[in-house]
Amino acid sequence: MPEGIEARLQEFDRKLRDGHFELLRQFLAKDYFGYSPGPGEPAASDRITDLVTDLKAALPDLTVAFDNIAVDAEGNATAEVTVQGTHKNELWGVPGSGDAVGWTGPVSIRAIGDRFAVRLDDLATPQRVGLVRQLRLVNPADEMDQPPHFPVVWPEFLLRLVFTGEVGDRPCSHLDQITVSDPPVSVCEQCVESDHIWPALRMCLVCGFVGCCDTSTNRHMAQHYQETGHCIFRSIRDDEGWIWCYEDDAFFDKAMLDRVG
Ligand SMILES: [Zn+2]
Ligand SMILES: [Zn+2]
Ligand SMILES: [Zn+2]
Repeated sequence: MPEGIEARLQEFDRKLRDGHFELLRQFLAKDYFGYSPGPGEPAASDRITDLVTDLKAALPDLTVAFDNIAVDAEGNATAEVTVQGTHKNELWGVPGSGDAVGWTGPVSIRAIGDRFAVRLDDLATPQRVGLVRQLRLVNPADEMDQPPHFPVVWPEFLLRLVFTGEVGDRPCSHLDQITVSDPPVSVCEQCVESDHIWPALRMCLVCGFVGCCDTSTNRHMAQHYQETGHCIFRSIRDDEGWIWCYEDDAFFDKAMLDRVG
């Protein structure tokens, strides 16, 4: 029943344009776009509501809108989402700048009953970091090889959103290769040798190698993957529990390891 879906989507859009973010849970599905939440995993509607609530606190004039809504015969929809507002207050460790920020990108929308699962599409790198860069959560493009300017505390589902388009876990088929849990060193030894600095460190979960991240000058973890085929790594920071897999483009929470055993 695509007509009903389109009408419901238009209604969702009107509520968002009017700033009725308290109604998000009435429109958003518990399911993620690509899968249903696993046991113990928060619902997609909860994570998106948390994200928008934080954004609204930092950008009091926040607006979200869907344009160019198109629904196909199966009831799947595409649209362009636009997020706008003035960054007045602290957001995840970054002070308000007073700057107007705005971002537009394509989304896919799947109807589940009278609710919706949403995924950001077309996540080419410059596009996907557009809004987070305007919010100064990441450094300017020409300073990505530098340590972060602000002590950003990323909600992990925001990182997943930036990397994969979804606020939920994406599966990885390499979990059985994990043998290491704690980093043996806390520097990129290859960068130290050549007198380079790095923004962040990653640890290979197959062998324990520690190397600099993909925005560093030398990208030693990416090089390690190319040389060894070890594709699964995590942030070295104890307060960051996420894991990334190069092969699957999977980004997921450490807690997933417990869920899959
Ligand atoms: Zn994998
Ligand atoms: Zn390095
Ligand atoms: Zn390795």
